[in-house]
Amino acid sequence: MSHVFPRHTKSNLPTVARGEGVYLYDQSGKQYFDGSGGAAVSCLGHGDPDVIAAIKGQLDSIAYAHTSFFTSDPAEQLADKLISHAPEGIDRVYLVSGGSEAMEAALKLARQYYVEIGQPQRRHVIARRQSYHGNTLGALATGGNEWRRAPFAPLMVETTHISPCFEYRGKRDEETTLEYGIRVADELEAEIRRLGEDSVFAFVAEPVVGATAGAVPAVEGYFKRIREICDRYGVLLILDEVMCGMGRTGKLFACEEDGVAPDIIAIAKGLGAGYQAIGAMLCSAKIYGAIEDGSGFFQHGHTYVGHPTACAASLAVLSKLTDGGLVDRSAEMGGKLQAALVQAFGQHPNIGDIRGRGLFRGIEIVEDRETKAPFAPERGINKLLKKETFAAGLICYPMGGTIDGVRGDHILLAPPFILEDNHIDEIVTKLGTAIGAVL
Ligand code: PLP
Repeated sequence: MSHVFPRHTKSNLPTVARGEGVYLYDQSGKQYFDGSGGAAVSCLGHGDPDVIAAIKGQLDSIAYAHTSFFTSDPAEQLADKLISHAPEGIDRVYLVSGGSEAMEAALKLARQYYVEIGQPQRRHVIARRQSYHGNTLGALATGGNEWRRAPFAPLMVETTHISPCFEYRGKRDEETTLEYGIRVADELEAEIRRLGEDSVFAFVAEPVVGATAGAVPAVEGYFKRIREICDRYGVLLILDEVMCGMGRTGKLFACEEDGVAPDIIAIAKGLGAGYQAIGAMLCSAKIYGAIEDGSGFFQHGHTYVGHPTACAASLAVLSKLTDGGLVDRSAEMGGKLQAALVQAFGQHPNIGDIRGRGLFRGIEIVEDRETKAPFAPERGINKLLKKETFAAGLICYPMGGTIDGVRGDHILLAPPFILEDNHIDEIVTKLGTAIGAVL
């Protein structure tokens, strides 16, 4: 009998035995194509020799030392490299162990910033419905998934939610895409005014919404408008790139495509590519300066902040993404994947939308293409798809999401950036088998 506490207590999972390139193998020898990199983590695939060598090299010198006493070369080099590629104004890197930790750090830093500069009354956060920012209490309070939040309410962070920018579901026939983006962005201004012009410290959003909606990018102009509104009311813009960052969308930082520079960015997942548990919160020189000139102490911290072995692994990952050209490959192969998905499923009566950027793709499942009506949740379409894709030897991320009260199903694809053309055929074939069995 197992003593491991699984998330789904009734699950009966195979035991993973090894990984090689884009494939995972269980103990019976069954091969699985890792079409979602776990949860958009394994951007380099499995068994990368350079990352493994970097980890081994670091273990031979120093595995871990606490950051109260030491900095380390891998942490310094990783921070330098991240900043050399980061959006304008971003200047400091706080290294943590995962996405939720990165978001907690982001929220606490934003709040502390306003305390340091004498505006402690700014205690509200605004986020968007149909968002996920992590499972620790602060991140959970910020996320826009009611079903995740409900058992833990009341949550400690005062968050309210506005509409996401979700063209397929939200755009009205009579408006242009640009008008739609401006309309939903302007909800932020209305919400700031409703709460009180000097009472909001941050607005939080994923540039491309991941698990809760299925790779949904904002429309052109949306984030520029959001940036203007944040600047007008002195609200910090926190972008959660935990899932969509690190080249997943074809740019190292997803917000590059939107042409905006946030005040704070959270990254994780692809930063360690699954070789080590690592995340990071990046902030502007202005925010860091307020702490430095004020109390000089960020009221936050975890034992494994700046873990040298995790940083060494991440540095090797980042080198492959940037100098090794894998971010560009994500853009190129992502275009091919999109074309193949549209070719195979674009006319399917139950596929409403195929979208995304780079190697971050979402397929929305509907009962009726005309009305966009989703299947009833009791049908459990996403669960059936998960079962059938897994049986066909494809790991992907079928999920159910709720958009303004409408429960829907989607499949998220986030394969390793090293995939070849024939792997795209394999994804499409296996997905076709599963879709054929369920829909
Ligand atoms: N933010 C986003 C957008 C995510 O997708 C996730 C995880 O899926 C998180 C935060 C939380 O990251 P972690 O699971 O590493 O704590």
